[in-house]
Amino acid sequence: MECSIIMKSGARKGDECAAKAYYKIDGEPVCGKHYHKLYDGDITQEIVVAESLRTKKALGRILQGQIDKKKFARRVSPRYHTGQWQLSDFSHNFIKSGFSCKHDCAYCYIKPMNKRFGRDPEVVDMEDVMETTDNKTDWPTNGNGRMCFFPSSHDIFEENMEDYVDECLKIIGDGHEIMYVSKPHLEATDLFIELWPEDLRDKIHPYITITSDDIKQLKIFEPNCADFEERVRCLRHLYKAGFTTNVMIEPYLSDPMSFIPKIKKYVNGVIMIGPLNYGGAILSGFPKKKQKKLRAYLDDLYSDERVMKLYEKTKDDDTILYKKKFIQRMLKLVH
Ligand code: SF4
Repeated sequence: MECSIIMKSGARKGDECAAKAYYKIDGEPVCGKHYHKLYDGDITQEIVVAESLRTKKALGRILQGQIDKKKFARRVSPRYHTGQWQLSDFSHNFIKSGFSCKHDCAYCYIKPMNKRFGRDPEVVDMEDVMETTDNKTDWPTNGNGRMCFFPSSHDIFEENMEDYVDECLKIIGDGHEIMYVSKPHLEATDLFIELWPEDLRDKIHPYITITSDDIKQLKIFEPNCADFEERVRCLRHLYKAGFTTNVMIEPYLSDPMSFIPKIKKYVNGVIMIGPLNYGGAILSGFPKKKQKKLRAYLDDLYSDERVMKLYEKTKDDDTILYKKKFIQRMLKLVH
């Protein structure tokens, strides 16, 4: 399949690129770092960007032909229309760095970091590792309102909900909005709804992570999280309480199409789909025998055929957007 030229404005035919090739389009290397492609032929196609979300430009336009460029681009990020390609502009956490979130998801990106830096892998009591202080503000206070991803390296639980809301209000007080991604528990969600000021509901954007409706897979990959039904109840409570509700299906652990119909009626924001990157150390945390089974299961779930099928079934649904990794996976299929 032919793809668009990727170039930075100012790049000319024959320019040389020092950056590492990122994608191959029509057999030509494409620079992922500086977003321009060196083309021998005429530069006749539009400017697109290879790295998607982080670049604030339209990665989706890379695809041509049977995939509608515009639609594909629009589903990259809900903030596309504002010219922003990131879900957030900066992040904040209030759990001391080095402590793991007690959900203990098998794919958590914090865990390998903790291991690498020799940190304590356990969190027994969330309150013991809280880092809120009256004067700690690591967010911009220059009056430019932005989207803060809080928390970004742990989840929110009932025992830290009061502190969470207090901290959010400080950030909002400095002119920002908040987005959070959570695998929620019912008590924590109800407490959040109770504590959150009614007139500030539009300042927070919940993304509820629902990765599967398959009890078995959830137990394997997200052992300490609420089950599917409880997460849907949390979503429903937030929806009924008047929040803008979003769902993060990332990483999907079974076919999202089996549960999207069950959650969609409680979503008035977006549903974002992202794959599991299981090529690294994720499976090594399981016993050898299990690793083999899990790999076979995931290889099937993420086979080219099933990924393309998922795309086909979701491409015309404007509520459904794709995370960067899903797009990268799609790009592999069409190159
Ligand atoms: S909920 Fe998020 S932060 Fe907590 S263990 Fe799971 S992936 Fe990590």
